[in-house]
Amino acid sequence: MRIAVLAGGVGGARFLAGVKAHLGWQPDGSAPADSPDEIIAIVNTADDIRLHGLQICPDLDSCLYTLSGQADTERGWGRAGETWTVSRELADYGAEAPWFSLGDKDIATHLVRTRMLDAGYPLSAVMAAIGERWQPGVRLLPMSDDRVETHVVVDRPAADRAQDGAQGGAQGGAQAGADGDTERVALHFQEWWVRYRAGLTPHAITPVGADVATPAPGVLEAIRDADLVLIAPSNPVVSIGTILAVPGIREAIRSTAAPVVGVSPLIDDKPIRGHADICLAAIGVEATAQAVGRHYGARSVDGLLDGYLVAEGESADVPGVLVADIPLLMTDPGATAAMVAACRRLVGI
Ligand code: GDP
Ligand code: CA
Repeated sequence: MRIAVLAGGVGGARFLAGVKAHLGWQPDGSAPADSPDEIIAIVNTADDIRLHGLQICPDLDSCLYTLSGQADTERGWGRAGETWTVSRELADYGAEAPWFSLGDKDIATHLVRTRMLDAGYPLSAVMAAIGERWQPGVRLLPMSDDRVETHVVVDRPAADRAQDGAQGGAQGGAQAGADGDTERVALHFQEWWVRYRAGLTPHAITPVGADVATPAPGVLEAIRDADLVLIAPSNPVVSIGTILAVPGIREAIRSTAAPVVGVSPLIDDKPIRGHADICLAAIGVEATAQAVGRHYGARSVDGLLDGYLVAEGESADVPGVLVADIPLLMTDPGATAAMVAACRRLVGI
């Protein structure tokens, strides 16, 4: 069985752990004996950011660390057993982006990655090399080797610009607001998400560069050659939406012979963690499982899905799509494996 999964960070990583469990991977990380199965994840890279000269790929690394048993599951990101010496030193220097903490162990990953990128290797090759150490059991493909960056247009307190002056500032043209108290800026996704905790209402969310990006090597083939394509319960806008914005990926999903099944990231109309509801509002989609299903749409009618899972006790009317309800809380890989089995049942494979 070859399964291709569209994935973001934490939601994507947990879902992939469930796909592994479904295919017989053991809780201690050991592979099933003689398994011919292959899992390929197509991972969002539009959250990636360069800080302190280091290329940071939050979603790829969430998948990498989670799938190799190295993630801090309580904090929800980064490495377990992490220390913060370098970040504290940088903060004491007043170095740019004090709102983004980097763990010491994590920094080693970013150093290795940046050195390889600077030597000319594409991100897909770099992640394959980094995966050699961690053996995540899933082929982690960046959606693209090209630079794509989600920017969020917001009105923010004008005073924040002064604060940024010494630190490099936000990207994009700043304009003083009419009353002088706020200014409209395009923030990097991470600044909006981490610094402002998605507390500034977005006027627009745009994956800058996606329209001229090409899928990374292996991405289109993974979708074409899969027996099953799954859309993880990741953020439909800033994780799945950005992957689908890379030309060719949506078309590959629409034309693959494999069934395509999506999973709702919302339970009881709310994201489990994060701010998917705010992102959905920014693109005019209601924060309900049904609205997300309709946003993805049916393959038979110009969309992506053959099947769609919603949370137990919920229903969704998505024309042309088979819908089933099942517990959707990814508490552990075993529970998540049941979701993957339900995806297969839904489309009869
Ligand atoms: P990020 O890149 O780290 O923000 O992670 P993703 O985009 O992959 O996933 C974020 C989404 O995962 C959020 O919208 C959450 O609602 C969803 N999510 C997290 N945990 C669960 C869970 O246990 N069940 C479901 N159905 N969705 C979840
Ligand atoms: Ca992310």
